[in-house]
Amino acid sequence: MAILVTGGAGYIGSHAARALRRSGYEVVLYDNLSAGFRRLAQGFELVEGDIADEARLRPVLARVDAVMHFAAHAYVGESVENPRKYFRNNVTTALSLLNSVLDAGIRRFVFSSSCAVYGVPERIPITERTSREPVNPYGASKLFFENALEAYGRAYGLRSVRLRYFNAAGAADSEDERGEIGELHDPETHLIPLALAATANGPELQICGSDYPTADGTCVRDYIHVNDLADAHVRALQYLERSGNEKGEDSLALNLGAGRGYSVLEVIRAVEYVTGRAVRRTMGPRRAGDPPVLVADPAKAQSLLGWSAKRNFSDIVSSAWAWMRKIERREAA
Ligand code: UDP
Repeated sequence: MAILVTGGAGYIGSHAARALRRSGYEVVLYDNLSAGFRRLAQGFELVEGDIADEARLRPVLARVDAVMHFAAHAYVGESVENPRKYFRNNVTTALSLLNSVLDAGIRRFVFSSSCAVYGVPERIPITERTSREPVNPYGASKLFFENALEAYGRAYGLRSVRLRYFNAAGAADSEDERGEIGELHDPETHLIPLALAATANGPELQICGSDYPTADGTCVRDYIHVNDLADAHVRALQYLERSGNEKGEDSLALNLGAGRGYSVLEVIRAVEYVTGRAVRRTMGPRRAGDPPVLVADPAKAQSLLGWSAKRNFSDIVSSAWAWMRKIERREAA
């Protein structure tokens, strides 16, 4: 069985591609390399193209059985400043991809959604029944696409699993993949790599807000190891293979988180513990669009996919650190 992975040269897509290959799937990566990196796609067939390019996609879709869609912009702060970019890519071009998929006769689709669809939830932990009221354009763009998938399921029998990630973090940790792939973003805006960089030559970390209604005043997030996320994608695909219902009624939305939250200050302490170095930091203002607390209730993914996080927070920080040191050594060489 062959799977098209859009955004396969990106952080999460490249980890999912390897998990799929380990499980025996044929994998084709599709990426325009606007945010992806050729090095993360090494060892795979990579088709360079835009998801809105129907002519480029058509022959590729003709030889796959399912699609995993990762290609998207994913910076909450940037989405507030430049919503046009987010709606163009995460909605307009994503819909074009969806139509190409449908026209190619493919009926299995796994989507990278986000806990950002929930906005500022009333209750923690967040279940999938929580109302979806995003507070930033990034979350709104993900919600729009989720709604499209639901409608396409009802109307055309497109079966989908919409995976609502909490905070993806860490790097590949298996014997053969350690140091080969990990978190790469340009620019980097995510907390863990920035905190790690602030122990070394990187800029000082700015803590985005210390007046939130949380125990220590900083935002709380549920960090989930990227290899655990990758494993969930394989299980989601297997779920779609098992459960055939042409009306798309077996489509699912699932939270992927560890079910435990860490504040920004707790993350900094963990980084200092793992690296044995101080994180240089300052307190800064809140970042627009950030909800105070996002922690998953991952019970539904456990019951329907048999999935739960296998790696803990310390595994996340230490694998991210190992990856960062590897890059530094490579760049210094
Ligand atoms: N954060 C921070 N300083 C930074 C980057 C992020 O304090 O330089 C905070 C951010 O406000 C959020 C948490 O760290 O509460 C995680 O942010 P990240 O960008 O890693 O992921 P997001 O939650 O936006 O997906």
